[in-house]
Amino acid sequence: MHVVSSALDEGPLALPQTGHRIDRHDADRQCEDWLAEVWRHPGTRVLRVVDDRVRRTADGARPVLEPARGELPDGTVYLGEVDAADLAADASGGVHVVAVEEPEDDHADAAAEMVSTIMLRRDAAELAAVDAGLLTQAVAILAWHRAAGFCTACGAATEIRSSGWMRVCPQCGAQSFPRTDPAVITAVVDRDDRLLLGSAVRWDASRYSTFAGFVEAGESVEQAVAREVAEEAGVDVVEVRYLGSQSWPFPRSLMLGHLAVVDDAERAVADREEIRHVRWFTREELAAETAAGRIGLPPRSSISRALIEHWHGGRIEDADPRTGPQPASRSRDGSRYSSRDHRRDEGGDRR
Ligand SMILES: [Zn+2]
Repeated sequence: MHVVSSALDEGPLALPQTGHRIDRHDADRQCEDWLAEVWRHPGTRVLRVVDDRVRRTADGARPVLEPARGELPDGTVYLGEVDAADLAADASGGVHVVAVEEPEDDHADAAAEMVSTIMLRRDAAELAAVDAGLLTQAVAILAWHRAAGFCTACGAATEIRSSGWMRVCPQCGAQSFPRTDPAVITAVVDRDDRLLLGSAVRWDASRYSTFAGFVEAGESVEQAVAREVAEEAGVDVVEVRYLGSQSWPFPRSLMLGHLAVVDDAERAVADREEIRHVRWFTREELAAETAAGRIGLPPRSSISRALIEHWHGGRIEDADPRTGPQPASRSRDGSRYSSRDHRRDEGGDRR
């Protein structure tokens, strides 16, 4: 097969939540007493999560992990065992980590919280791999519990089992599990190895990204890539390559990253519903326009950014801190990205 993009020859995508080792103890966590035993263990550490946020350690670098104290809280979820050497915790050997959902504190000082808080969506790229992995897992499973309180078969309130990894309906016996929604996200290149990006209607006109959407019922991943690219950008995919994936727990997407080649570059046109404008970039153009602040790219925590930089062959520097590592000046809800991406997350197919 003729390879048109050097991005196809590169290694795997550089993604913030990969490269860690977390033993989820699948068999153990199904045992009735496992979670209570873990909670009683003096080495166990607790990640306290509010939405996608956790407290920062005093040195600012890592999520706070506390010893487990008092009674096992309702809704506690077992995350897994990690090597103490990978953690900020003052422990040795293997450390079991559990997640507890904290109530939202509406009275917290927003500015102080920006400094003292790690937000997964904003900060994942800056975290150690194991921290990003634990936080991603915690945010995902706790979001599921918030949404899975009632049986989808009969409507009765469900009960938690398997250390937080299953819910059971006491009325009809139906079991439910934390599933993810597959979504495709695609970097489109032409035969000259230029990259096609789109500016979505719901973003600033200067912000550009790759093309994304949920895999629909009855559809393969490859079909979803071709459909989304055709719908949003008007071009026909002739070759597609899977590059890597990212859990995106807002609330439960699994982003499947691809690079797709098209022959009909001149036909690229925005759908005007989701995408306002599409544009082809050479590597030099994209780097120069980004550095000059004329266009903004997705945050470094996103697979979209990883796909773009994978194609580019290296890091692209931002001109504007909105898209890079964050100063402590953004709004409490995670800034402009948060609310906008949230809509995308909820309706990933954006229709
Ligand atoms: Zn039921």
